[in-house]
Amino acid sequence: MWPFEPVPVMDPTSLLPTFMLGQLPDLPACPSFSTILEWSNYDCNVKVAGFSVGFSMFAVIAFTCSVFAFELMLDLRQRAVISSDEQPTKLYSVVGAIDAADKTKKSNLKKQIMEKFVSSQAYGLDKINFSIFSQFYGLIEGCGFMLLGAYPYLWKLSIDLGAKLSWTEADEIKLSCLFFVLMTFAGEATGLPLSIYSTFFLEKKHGFNKTTPKLFVKDKIQSIILTFAIGSPVLALLLYIVKSTGELFYLYAWALMFVFSVTMMTIYPAFIMPIFNKFDPLPEGDLKTSIEALASSINYPLTKLFIIDGSKRSSHSNAFMFGFGKNKRIVLFDTLMKQVTNDEILSILGHELGHWALSHTLVNFVVTQLYFGAAFFGYGLCLNTNYLYSAFGFDRDSVPTLISLILFMLYFWAPLDKVISFLLTINTRMAEFAADRYSIGLGMKTLQSGLTKIHIENLGSMKSDKWYSTYHYSHPPLAERLEAMAVEEKRVAGKSK
Ligand SMILES: [Zn+2]
Repeated sequence: MWPFEPVPVMDPTSLLPTFMLGQLPDLPACPSFSTILEWSNYDCNVKVAGFSVGFSMFAVIAFTCSVFAFELMLDLRQRAVISSDEQPTKLYSVVGAIDAADKTKKSNLKKQIMEKFVSSQAYGLDKINFSIFSQFYGLIEGCGFMLLGAYPYLWKLSIDLGAKLSWTEADEIKLSCLFFVLMTFAGEATGLPLSIYSTFFLEKKHGFNKTTPKLFVKDKIQSIILTFAIGSPVLALLLYIVKSTGELFYLYAWALMFVFSVTMMTIYPAFIMPIFNKFDPLPEGDLKTSIEALASSINYPLTKLFIIDGSKRSSHSNAFMFGFGKNKRIVLFDTLMKQVTNDEILSILGHELGHWALSHTLVNFVVTQLYFGAAFFGYGLCLNTNYLYSAFGFDRDSVPTLISLILFMLYFWAPLDKVISFLLTINTRMAEFAADRYSIGLGMKTLQSGLTKIHIENLGSMKSDKWYSTYHYSHPPLAERLEAMAVEEKRVAGKSK
């Protein structure tokens, strides 16, 4: 931990001296939220690593360091599990049961998974080491950004660049878009070494990377252009709403995010993904006929079936669905088609369709919208507390709206966000079990073997630390999932007898 010592600043207007004398200041009987915020934020300076910083920045840094320490502890637990040679016997026995249940006697998944154990451990170890390094890098970057005053510096730079375009400080929305562009470039620049290492060293070492340097650069440029083209107008509109719609701004901002989410869900797969990948219609044949039959058996309004050239970037495999209302599409990665049989693809799609039939997609959408609503409402409560933000190097009388929004996210929202993310991860894991049960309920017999094959091909982890997987895994560990599937298969078979 960094050394720190509190250095109170004697400000005659602050409540601090009264507290120091042990007397309670005159407080309203029922303090308002903003009063509470004010108490929690005297201009009390704290020394962090030799820097003298205000209380709110100190709180952000303390929180960031605490999260880092907690996640590092989990990473080290996971690392210990991955580093040990102990075989995943539970997984072997669950997979062995899949082989035993195969009537053709051709299934040899247990042998395959045992053969891949060493490679899977090596890949997992490299990934966890990289993750520890990335988090440490992110910690230094995030805290360095605050302590060195990168936010006020980039804001000043935006004003200087804006002045060349004859923008004044009154053109706050334009300056904010410029700031957004500078922040994006800064983020891309600091993240680039990690991204290069992950793609061209880590993934390549384990045989997954297919991205060429030329494609990597093209992807980066295209995604930056898209970020500006889509992000800037939305940001400008959001800032306009916050600045001009008064106390109920959060309702309008919420409505904007709703429209934005719906629009993105529509245009992302239909117009943006095709910029990066080629979508070919699935050729006529048995697979197409069976997928269409499966979709119509559960009244899924399937209109198009595509194969996407995922193999041009990576040999990892995937499948997904998208579309609104009566216009749904299913997309299969070409890599998936090579790894599993047609029957297994149907079982996997049965799982994906389960997410739709059990309304997981809709619930996720509603939860995301509630999340935005709560965040904007919270921001509204803190909107007039500029003194909080002065600790970050801004003039307390004129904190730009975008800056206050960013600092709100860092200061007030981040702790809540961590809790919400954790609850959502738990919910996603439960949804995965439910979608597996749904697929089996449709009469799919090959979900276990399909999932195991994908896991083998992707060198998925075969062992995990209980705490680590509970905190991080959006999908349950393979052994747990296969076990739950076996139980469900037995239940369904018992019912049909
Ligand atoms: Zn799923």
